[in-house]
Amino acid sequence: MNQTLTHLIALQEIDSLIIQKRREIEAIPSELKKLERAISSVEERFREVKTKAEAIEKKRRQKEIELQEAIDKIEKLKARTSEIKTNEEYQAHIKEIERAEKKKYLIEDDILYLMEKADELNRNMKQIQSEIQNEKEKITKQQKEIEDRKALLEKEVSDLLKKRNSIISNLDKEVYSIYMNLLEKGNGVAVAEAKDEVCQGCYMSIPPQLYVELKIREELFTCPQCGRFLYRKN
Ligand SMILES: [Zn+2]
Repeated sequence: MNQTLTHLIALQEIDSLIIQKRREIEAIPSELKKLERAISSVEERFREVKTKAEAIEKKRRQKEIELQEAIDKIEKLKARTSEIKTNEEYQAHIKEIERAEKKKYLIEDDILYLMEKADELNRNMKQIQSEIQNEKEKITKQQKEIEDRKALLEKEVSDLLKKRNSIISNLDKEVYSIYMNLLEKGNGVAVAEAKDEVCQGCYMSIPPQLYVELKIREELFTCPQCGRFLYRKN
């Protein structure tokens, strides 16, 4: 095979790998962002439950104050009992005490309900906290894996660039410049295989005569459709 073509094929192989690895490297920040979003969403759930729990606690404290007021009221009413003169007044007084006590029981019911609610929310928070912990550990591990993969990819790219440089040193400057031009315009493919009379760069037919020449002549040929360097494996 033409020596230049051999270099071009090797160069294309390396460049395809570099392009692929660089793409993988470029995708990494968005992978990391996705992981961060996963943590934020669990944290957000935790904050929601916490806000609810705080509201319940506030309500409960308010109810405790109301309860104390109700207790005070009942005590005051009871203390006044001895001052009552007539039977009518007494009946009305007893009714008032009953009402106050009823109110007190209702407040106590509310407090009980709120305490149960608070218990439930606290259990929820504990559950979510342990989920957050697990999630964070999982994500930290994944982040580490991604960072390691990134480092490895960067190392591979840097090794490939070294190989690339040694190949370029064997290439004619003009051929290299044509190659680079094709690589840029040709979506990362500057050298294409001619397979079954089809250019694998543009997937157009190759004239039969050229297809034969590719096999027998030690020359640099290009695809008449896309201009890519062509080679034949068999
Ligand atoms: Zn082509």
